[in-house]
Amino acid sequence: MKKPMMERQETNTFDYVVVGAGPAGLQLAYFLQQAGFDYTVLESGEAPGTFYTKFPRHRTLISSNKVHTGYDDPEKRLRWDWNSLLSDSPEMLFRNYSEEYFPAADDLVRYLGDFGSHFGLRVRYGTRVARISREDGEFHLSDAAGNAYRAKRVVVATGYSAAYQPAIPGLELAESYNDVSCDRADFVNQQVLIIGKGNSAFETADNLIPTAAVIHVASPKPLNLAWKTHFVGHLRAVNNNFLDTYQLKSQNAVLDATIHRIEKRDGRYVVSVTYTHAHGESEELFYDRVISCTGFRFDPSIFDESCTPELCIDDRFPRQSSAWESTSVEGLYFAGALMHMRDYKKTTSGFIHGFRYNVRTLVRLLEARYHGRPLPRRPVADTVEGLSDAVLERVNRSSALWQQFGFLCDVIVVPEEGGAEYIEEVPVDYVHDGELGLNPHYYVVTLEFGKIVGDPFNVERNPDPAYANESTFLHPVVRRYCGLKLLGEVHLAEHLYAEWSHPTMHVEPLRAFFTESFAPVPA
Ligand SMILES: Cc1cc2nc3c(=O)[nH]c(=O)nc-3n(C[C@H](O)[C@H](O)[C@H](O)COP(=O)(O)OP(=O)(O)OC[C@H]3O[C@@H](n4cnc5c(N)ncnc54)[C@H](O)[C@@H]3O)c2cc1C
Repeated sequence: MKKPMMERQETNTFDYVVVGAGPAGLQLAYFLQQAGFDYTVLESGEAPGTFYTKFPRHRTLISSNKVHTGYDDPEKRLRWDWNSLLSDSPEMLFRNYSEEYFPAADDLVRYLGDFGSHFGLRVRYGTRVARISREDGEFHLSDAAGNAYRAKRVVVATGYSAAYQPAIPGLELAESYNDVSCDRADFVNQQVLIIGKGNSAFETADNLIPTAAVIHVASPKPLNLAWKTHFVGHLRAVNNNFLDTYQLKSQNAVLDATIHRIEKRDGRYVVSVTYTHAHGESEELFYDRVISCTGFRFDPSIFDESCTPELCIDDRFPRQSSAWESTSVEGLYFAGALMHMRDYKKTTSGFIHGFRYNVRTLVRLLEARYHGRPLPRRPVADTVEGLSDAVLERVNRSSALWQQFGFLCDVIVVPEEGGAEYIEEVPVDYVHDGELGLNPHYYVVTLEFGKIVGDPFNVERNPDPAYANESTFLHPVVRRYCGLKLLGEVHLAEHLYAEWSHPTMHVEPLRAFFTESFAPVPA
């Protein structure tokens, strides 16, 4: 049958086309607009935040919203506000939308809608990008209605828009987190298997505790707990009631097992497993329901062969440089949850409270690369006191270093001819990949967790500042480099209130480090 002709409208040409108006697309639009750039955002939904109209399925966010912190400093308060986008408007803080520590997803959707309209962001809703190609150094996009767009550069902020399905024969017989019933009354007295051990799996299990007879949560690898790993995508305590019901013998279990096959026999599911820690023991388990909660991935289907980005991490992410540019397609960038490729399961780029800073930095990198505006920097006195004060001011206030621990850093460059410059919030990898890393005398400032061996609630702490490098909780680290060579580092001891200003615990060791650094570099 002949396809109906789609009416082609005028081609729209922009410097930047952003695909997707989730929190990342909106945050990007805000900074592109502030920079005075020529951009548009194309969003398939009728309003921002389409993902959050459906997910998380049980409608409670796991990003915390701490309204009362005891601090007035808006920058510092963002350390505990994980849902606000960055802006210069106090009205556009998420605290004005919910007071709940774990807020409702619908409140975030309402907030995102208002954020878009408050700043007059240039978003075209109801516009699903169907195809992206690249010709003569320019991107060509077409939407589902046949409209065409051209762009010098494209930023894809489509989030985790497809389901990740591990290769388990019969998995297609299972129900999916995406559309399984959230009504626990549909599971009365049933035996349920949930595949996956992330927050979506445990959110689903938690909901079924009161009605299901048996719930097993299974995947090959052992469970990771966010309070132990500091990675907020691991199981959050707010979703972990289920663990009690396992260890306190309430007919539920967490299974470490490889699932070989799912079959349906006589109206029930038969699942063949081999246990991970049981000397290869295998068995068949029987269930009334099987629910797949195996996660999400990037959907590359909108790209034609002229600009299909290289993928990585089981094809779940587009591979990116330290500036979030595709490693295979020049001028194609990624924003939002997709940036998490660079700090996969380490820091917070997969979440609003992480990628909001990455997005601000991305716009600065674009300004530097394409618009002749060098990364913002300010002068600091190139004295021991000058550098120490600059570092202490930042580590005690910055929300970006706090949220993106060990991933985003500040850089202080000390040129030989004198005068030092302070540059905020660049990826550590970007420093070492590019021109900043060529400097003969520079410092990288981060906040980092130390390594915990064993029980995180039973850690021996040495209060002597000489042992600050053994701090396990978040604490400042300053490293001195000559080119890519690490010449020295100092850790400032962890502090109960995260206030690094104690004269002997923090100020003295930092000054001693800079004093030593200003001594001639050993040959
Ligand atoms: C179950 C679950 C729960 C989560 N809970 C939280 C949480 O509580 N807090 C948190 O910070 N993070 C959470 N996350 C992580 C979450 O994915 C990100 O925070 C956030 O959704 C990512 O924002 P984004 O803008 O990158 O992508 P998204 O929010 O997914 O936005 C992508 C946008 O792109 C649009 N789009 C997609 N394809 C096209 C196309 N072809 N053309 C045009 N538009 C398109 C979509 O409609 C959507 O609006 C959760 C993730 C999952 C899977």
